[in-house]
Amino acid sequence: MLRSSEFEALLDLSARVGADPDLVQGAGGNTSIKEGGTLWIKASGLWLAHARRRDVMVPVALDPLLDALERDDPATEKAQDFVVRDLNPSGLRPSIETTVHALMPQKVVVHVHCVETIATAVHADAAAIAGEKLQGIPYAFVPYARPGLPLAKAIAERIQADTSVLVLGNHGLAVAAETVGDAARLLAEVSQRFAVPVRQAPSADLEALSRLAVNSAYRLPDDGRIHDAATDLESCRIAAGGSLYPDHVIFLGKGSVVAAPGENALSLEEGFRRAGESLPPVLLFPGKGALVLKDISAGALAMARCLSDVTARIPDGASLRYLTDAENAELLGWDAEKYRQQLNRAGQVLQ
Ligand SMILES: [Zn+2]
Repeated sequence: MLRSSEFEALLDLSARVGADPDLVQGAGGNTSIKEGGTLWIKASGLWLAHARRRDVMVPVALDPLLDALERDDPATEKAQDFVVRDLNPSGLRPSIETTVHALMPQKVVVHVHCVETIATAVHADAAAIAGEKLQGIPYAFVPYARPGLPLAKAIAERIQADTSVLVLGNHGLAVAAETVGDAARLLAEVSQRFAVPVRQAPSADLEALSRLAVNSAYRLPDDGRIHDAATDLESCRIAAGGSLYPDHVIFLGKGSVVAAPGENALSLEEGFRRAGESLPPVLLFPGKGALVLKDISAGALAMARCLSDVTARIPDGASLRYLTDAENAELLGWDAEKYRQQLNRAGQVLQ
């Protein structure tokens, strides 16, 4: 298929953004371009980082999707019914966040789980902070809503004709522009405006962690930054408070498991098995570091790193808005997310 130069530029930007863990973790984040009535959007479960290695974009018929959104048609939840099948030979499914892209009228939309933005968007007064930081940029703050139809409705209620930035509460950022170059510049500008000092975490105690992992299903993570959420006691306290954004819940489960003094990986593991619960992918040992499941998925590893990167940017004593029990439950019970989890488990994301 012959692609326009803007389409090619979007694939380059997608691969670059997808390879930056400060912007995108695992299969999170998505990009899109509108051409000739078709919205090309990143496929569900695939990684933006792989945009130059494999086909990751799915064609969706834009006007029928927008009409359906207007009617609150539940088919917009997955956008699967709006795929242009002739242009989608590999049968990819559109991102669960396709409606975010459809609702922004600009040609190019980039949605990221930028850690700078998330570290702001989890504050109880995130809307006010965004107002201060984004002066001069036409933006809208959208309070947390589950990705899919609820988020689409929340955006539709707040978006104006000139809105080029969406700050999504407890979630992330979307920027939109008429060219890929302008979208890239806007993304850099907004993430820079949200940048805050990053707390340096103490080093992990690898010997203690190795002892804590003995005979268990857990091991030391290769990415040393994963320890930071446990070795920095303030970050650990923030993590212990619950889940702060959707992909954390989907890939790591509800909240974070923080070991009490005297507990080790095996004793925690036995507790989960007795309760008939699946093993959490990550265990945090305050002051010492983190252990991860031996067979942890690539997506969960990326989210474990994200937890360190987000919590290190949240100042001591900040008043935060955690996801409620109901919000956690609806994320874990959601069909479209189950598809994404399945792809993640199947390792297709590693291709
Ligand atoms: Zn998102």
